[in-house]
Amino acid sequence: MIKKIIALTLFVSFFTACKKDSSVMPEGGVDDVSFNNYEIHFLDGYWKLNPDMATSVGYHKYDSVLLIPNKQAREKLLTFAKVQLDSLGRYNPGTFLATNKMDFGMMQNQMQYLQWSIESLKAYEWDPSSYNVIGTFAYILNEHYAPLAKRLTNFYQRMANIPAYYKEAEKQIKNPVVELTSLAIEQHLGGVGVIENDFADSLKKTNIPEATKKLMLDRAKLSADAIKSFADYLKNLKNDHPRSFRLGKDLYEDKFKYEIQSSQTAQQVYNAAVERKKYLHHEMAKRSIELWPKYFGTRPMPADTLEIIGKVIDTISVKHVAPDEFQGAIEKILPKLTAFVKSKDLVTLDPSKPLVVRKEPGYMAGVAGASMSSPGPYDTGQNSYFNVGSLAGWAPERAESYLREYNQYILQILCIHEAIPGHYVQLVYANKAPSMIKSVFGNGAMIEGWAVYSEQMMLDNGYDNNEPEMLLMWYKWNLRSACNTILDYSVHCLNMPKQQAITLLTHEAFQQQAEAEGKWKRVNVTSVQLDSYYTGFKDIMDMREEWKKKQGDKYKLKDFNEKFLSYGSAPVKSIRDAMLAKEPAAVSSDKH
Ligand code: ZN
Ligand code: ZN
Repeated sequence: MIKKIIALTLFVSFFTACKKDSSVMPEGGVDDVSFNNYEIHFLDGYWKLNPDMATSVGYHKYDSVLLIPNKQAREKLLTFAKVQLDSLGRYNPGTFLATNKMDFGMMQNQMQYLQWSIESLKAYEWDPSSYNVIGTFAYILNEHYAPLAKRLTNFYQRMANIPAYYKEAEKQIKNPVVELTSLAIEQHLGGVGVIENDFADSLKKTNIPEATKKLMLDRAKLSADAIKSFADYLKNLKNDHPRSFRLGKDLYEDKFKYEIQSSQTAQQVYNAAVERKKYLHHEMAKRSIELWPKYFGTRPMPADTLEIIGKVIDTISVKHVAPDEFQGAIEKILPKLTAFVKSKDLVTLDPSKPLVVRKEPGYMAGVAGASMSSPGPYDTGQNSYFNVGSLAGWAPERAESYLREYNQYILQILCIHEAIPGHYVQLVYANKAPSMIKSVFGNGAMIEGWAVYSEQMMLDNGYDNNEPEMLLMWYKWNLRSACNTILDYSVHCLNMPKQQAITLLTHEAFQQQAEAEGKWKRVNVTSVQLDSYYTGFKDIMDMREEWKKKQGDKYKLKDFNEKFLSYGSAPVKSIRDAMLAKEPAAVSSDKH
């Protein structure tokens, strides 16, 4: 029944789209055109069933909808996944343009992931933090995509289901993970202010009639009570046989396959990360021994190489900016990076899309540091921002420790990673190859992998004159990516105990105790996510080698970079397939 309806809509839209959109369609066969229309219907259906995610990508049709997380809702999602997999099965992606072939693979992966999440992972039973509704309310309140009164009305309508939502959540939860239960309590009590206070504060700034305002505030009160009573429920939950926070090898490999989409397994990437750590230690020891006399004169070196490295890192970390110069320093680094990328001809930068550096807006987590804010795929035309956290009001000790971490060297690497030629440049290229599927389901390992790859590329090309201090600091930074993978896999698949994890991070990766404790907390409540940096980096480096061989004398780094970026945020393995595909012309020149 449902299949029939979808087939019919497809048919109708094929013709309407042909009239209006054929001029903007990329060239391609009839199959490509029909597939592009199918994509639009696929997303329409997907947003209807995932209104929270729709809001977060800037698709605001379902802002007022909160779905009750019951069995029927899951069944609708399952049916959707099965129907789409069936529809996808009717296409022959072999005839598609490269970009559509990638979209096809990503849609198929996404639907299999959805099906697997509901049937095998079942986080709705054991992860109480998966029921947090507050994030989307905060987004509606803080993002200025529509007039305030309109956003508050959606906010109000969306609150209607909150009590029923949490009643259902309580029914679904069974033997939850203790760490995720604590996280859920923390997040719900920490975030309820959005509904309890922020909503009321915003209402005061509108002309909504007083009587309506009163209704809205009454509902906010009921909603806040429901959220607090869910937190109480979790606090008092009798949980004699909690599930372990460790995901276990089988679920882990599957999750890795769907989320990372590498050509390798999690275990293979883990093995490679262990080797990478050895290599980095070796390189770091070389630089540290070279630097020793400069900083320690004739003082004898410790016998343990890790200790030598640690001492040199500590010593050169004191070169850092003052707390109130943090944003200014970043603003000065960016033009330096642009000039370097141009002088070495690494990748073409688009001067019409300047990057705006701003102080981190108040409603963002308040975690200092730097991050990129880019417009959602449905909000194009807006600025990209480089958010810089302020250290104002920090205790001197805390600021000092933070600034040592983001010392003069690491601060430059951070700017390479976040901005030029890292995340920001990748995003500009991705926007030139518009594909809603790639923006919405963008592959995290490709995105993070590119940023990490771009750091190495800058240093390989002589950034900062290859000062040994800079190299040493980059190795430390890169070691963090490798150790993220080692940690995540070891904890979730190999039962690594806490003490061993902390030792790995502090002793072998030169992290501060507080940072290591924070990482342990993170690996208790997430899985696989920490693999994206190293896996993406490794996959890009590996494919560049292959591409180099294939190109022979014609190889140019800039060509590789631009070709790689031109496909948008697709999994590295699909970009590899496209870039290394045999070109039809090559077949005819075959002499045999
Ligand atoms: Zn200092
Ligand atoms: Zn990043």
